[in-house]
Amino acid sequence: MHNLIKSLTKEFTSVLGLDAYADDFLPLDLSVHNEVLKASLHAYSTSQDWEEYIHHLFVKSGKKVAYGGYLEHRFLYERSAYFTKIEPTKVRNIHLGLDLWSPSHTPVIAPLDGIIHSFQNNLNYGDYGPTIILEHLVNERSFYTLYGHLTEDSIQNKCVGDKIQKGEVFAALGDASVNGDYAPHLHFQLICDIGDYKGDYPGVSSLIDITYFEQNCPDPNLLLKIY
Ligand SMILES: [Zn+2]
Repeated sequence: MHNLIKSLTKEFTSVLGLDAYADDFLPLDLSVHNEVLKASLHAYSTSQDWEEYIHHLFVKSGKKVAYGGYLEHRFLYERSAYFTKIEPTKVRNIHLGLDLWSPSHTPVIAPLDGIIHSFQNNLNYGDYGPTIILEHLVNERSFYTLYGHLTEDSIQNKCVGDKIQKGEVFAALGDASVNGDYAPHLHFQLICDIGDYKGDYPGVSSLIDITYFEQNCPDPNLLLKIY
């Protein structure tokens, strides 16, 4: 399935409706290995601090979108019991999607033709908020793309089974008041086998489950070809 997904795009493919190409994307390391970030974490304790930090990166670099996070081991989930309330070996802190940081209300576009598989507002603190999952049928096999941290409007007037065309705007980025309290960004994730999940799917894994999730949720860059 990974090779099939990779073969579906030949070049940079956007999921944001912006005049931005691969050269306009700035890598953003939010991992436990980013010493600068770790040392100054107290300065970035709120979603607004993060939003200002990211805006500052755009001004400094001249880039338009910050990206990163696939299989990144992050400390930022420690603020939310949704990720940590279970036994220590099951603490979830390895990120399974690609995050694309861009201002709120940035349009979200489909990278491929698909249909709406499901949608839901995931309301836990630190969760996705409004979320849409598209299903893509290729050579009689389905795989799925998940879009998290959207506006509430994005999940209004939608029906399961609605067709969405490649390049069509079907959602927009929510702000911190609706998106689980993050600086605005899109969580974009590939899912091979979605099981019974609807409108939600784990976007963060524990170390103990990562072998499975790494296979089932391959690198989104297979499709987007940003780097
Ligand atoms: Zn994410």
